[in-house]
Amino acid sequence: MACEDPKNLEFHEMELDDRILKAIANLGWSHPTLIQERAIPLLLEGKDVLMRARTGTGKTGAFAIPVIQKILYKKQFAREQEVKALILAPSKELCFQIHKNFLQLTSKCSRDVRCVDISPQVDLSVQKAVLVERPDVVISTPARALAHLKANSLTLKDSLEILVIDEADLVFSFGYEDDVKEVLKYMPKIYQAALASATLSDEVITLKKLVLRNAVILKLEEPDLAPVSQLEHFILYAEDNDKAAILYTLLKLQLVRGKTIIFVNTVDKCYKLKLFLEQFRIATCILNSELPANIRCHAVSQFNRGTYDIIIASDEKALEDPVVDCSHQPKSKKRKIDKESGVARGIDFQFVSNVINFDFPLDAASYIHRAGRTARGTNKGTALSFVSVKEVKIKDEVENQLKSSLSENNLFKKYNFKMELVEGFRYRAKDAWRAVTRIAVREARLKEIKQEIINSEKLKGYFEENPRDFISLRHDKALHTVKLQSHLADVPSYLVPEPLKEFAESIPKPKLQHPYQPKKNKFKRRLNALKNNPLFNLQFSGFEESEGSDSKKNKSK
Ligand code: AMP
Repeated sequence: MACEDPKNLEFHEMELDDRILKAIANLGWSHPTLIQERAIPLLLEGKDVLMRARTGTGKTGAFAIPVIQKILYKKQFAREQEVKALILAPSKELCFQIHKNFLQLTSKCSRDVRCVDISPQVDLSVQKAVLVERPDVVISTPARALAHLKANSLTLKDSLEILVIDEADLVFSFGYEDDVKEVLKYMPKIYQAALASATLSDEVITLKKLVLRNAVILKLEEPDLAPVSQLEHFILYAEDNDKAAILYTLLKLQLVRGKTIIFVNTVDKCYKLKLFLEQFRIATCILNSELPANIRCHAVSQFNRGTYDIIIASDEKALEDPVVDCSHQPKSKKRKIDKESGVARGIDFQFVSNVINFDFPLDAASYIHRAGRTARGTNKGTALSFVSVKEVKIKDEVENQLKSSLSENNLFKKYNFKMELVEGFRYRAKDAWRAVTRIAVREARLKEIKQEIINSEKLKGYFEENPRDFISLRHDKALHTVKLQSHLADVPSYLVPEPLKEFAESIPKPKLQHPYQPKKNKFKRRLNALKNNPLFNLQFSGFEESEGSDSKKNKSK
């Protein structure tokens, strides 16, 4: 059943409890997003709903608000505390994020609506103690929920009112199909259900048949990505040898500013790039599915709070696919990855100014997920993709697919980068790239995992008592598996191309651990004077093939 007659309702017109309205106001959500406008009234009416919505559209609020409203309403008559809602999501990160959203939305009624996230892989008995209290909302991955249902620590048969499955298309690709089917056996005969999914794939339709009854399907007319007026797409043709040099130049000369996520296609590449940038004292944080989930979540939340500005992430898909560029990874030896972790999909990185595809993603869906990390809400963003000769074909395919969905003739603008003007950077980069050997990468992986596990396990108790220290725990520390050469930290002026000399003088001298923090200084003021560069509105004629009037204007400043 497709929904006809949409009414444009504001939050206060949706007959929501005052406590929810206050929490919404505290979040600064002045109007419902399209999906919220459509889904909230339907769910409040008790309808089953299948909503197709991309991440960033406010879909969590679209199901969380009616769930909370229903619980508050039922609480007026309820005699017993019971689990009323089960929210399933395919990754721990997503569960963490959904939980956070629920906590925000129940901030004014937290005594009446209790929510728990049972996705962390702690001992079942630890969570049993929490589930004994029968929290109103349980958020979990399908596997974890099933484990508790089997252990009788979670019972839904007599109490559950609403089931939500978020990122439903991923539930299948993460191999949760059987778990979901099993979970359904523990459901009561009648319950309301909602599915949220970025795509309406065949698998989602199968899931819909299993879970939903007479569902309203909300296929919102939203483009997959924000419009190009909000999210600009650039490509920079570069071979693998030059990609690292270009990245180093862009970061070191601060031509890329603001929070940046750099995507690569393998875990090894994450570390290779981190160790490469580390030699120039450019601090970065790694995010991949080998790291413990709580650390990944902590890393994302620190990134969101501005503790650091650069994250290097590998894509889940690439990790699973043995045919991807695995120059450091023998095809036969697939590494053990955490299937409940999805790095790019669904996790809410906030205020990201740039996405840089160091490796071009493997398909359009992946491009959308990566580029969609920026230009959230009403913020502007930039996606810059490095494209090597062997990636041109896939780039063309992605472009063709996206052009029609965004109704744009030219999706990608060319970012012309005159490598010959920064030859000195290239030499340095070449040496530094070569210095990151396979052994250094392997050691770095081990070291990072060890470091993070020590942080997360041994110090857990300590951090519980001393939360401030957890806040100060950073994830962008240097790994030091490649010998650092002190001269690489600075950029001598003879290396800097003429048009950039003026600000290069003002680039702050790097500190060992954390050179990459925006600073209010002379440099920033000068930098702001230069406008129209594809990245961050700066334009340096040195990097432009064609010298338009704008660039001449800027040069003369
Ligand atoms: P989601 O699609 O649920 O992951 O939400 C993406 C982002 O949009 C989150 O940072 C939310 O806090 C934010 N958001 C959700 N609903 C609204 C709204 N009505 N107005 C403004 N921001 C919102």
